Amino acid sequence: MRKLRQQAMTDQLTGLGNRRWLSERIVTEQARAEREKSPISVVLFDLDHFKDINDSFGHDVGDRVLIGVGEVIRDNLRRYDLAARIGGEEFCLILPKTRIGEAVVIAERFRTQLEKLNVDPLPQGRITASFGIYQATPCDSMQAMLLQADRALYRAKEKGRNCVQSFDWHAETR
Ligand code: C2E
Ligand code: C2E
Repeated sequence: MRKLRQQAMTDQLTGLGNRRWLSERIVTEQARAEREKSPISVVLFDLDHFKDINDSFGHDVGDRVLIGVGEVIRDNLRRYDLAARIGGEEFCLILPKTRIGEAVVIAERFRTQLEKLNVDPLPQGRITASFGIYQATPCDSMQAMLLQADRALYRAKEKGRNCVQSFDWHAETR
């Protein structure tokens, strides 16, 4: 029974949590942040031109890219941070006790690590991602967090991809 539940919460390809797992864990993390009056940041990232990789090199290569991204995440994140694959090529990190400025440091670390990822036969530097960051408030739902992070991610794509943008109330309400 426990194994079945674990399977239902895991992305089988990368071994990371899935969206369902994230939405359960976020409730606990939000409650803790509220109790401890500590910040939480959300990093949403999306692999650039991933469809072209699948179309040009095949799904097997695409799958190996996703597995590689999962490994980069596992090797570079603190044990208490949460990471999930929430869409085809979309990943989400939830960083407890982390302010937006620190989340930018983390996202930059991932951005440069992904550029170095080697997946045969892709040339090095072919795998890049765009990042959107949002520092949540205690009353935000998971949908609200993802929406604001997604707005920042949209600006990262607009700026030419392979970059990090944080959510900015002024920019989003202009
Ligand atoms: P840094 O790598 O420049 O990170 C600056 C701050 O960003 C950290 O301050 C922390 O608040 C946040 N941060 C960075 N990476 C992560 C992460 O993966 N998860 C979370 N939740 N927060 C992160 P902090 O904790 O005071 O650390 C100061 C410096 O100490 C770091 O600067 C880094 O140079 C070093 N450091 C701390 N913990 C580790 C670790 O587990 N491994 C490595 N390699 N260095 C660490
Ligand atoms: P951990 O906290 O679970 O972090 C796992 C990995 O996430 C680290 O592996 C590192 O690759 C990355 N990471 C986490 N926080 C940071 C950070 O602030 N900056 C940078 N640049 N990378 C970060 P690593 O470095 O092999 O560390 C393994 C474990 O050793 C860490 O697990 C942590 O338990 C401990 N550790 C390493 N450095 C520090 C440190 O400066 N302070 C503390 N308190 N623990 C550390």
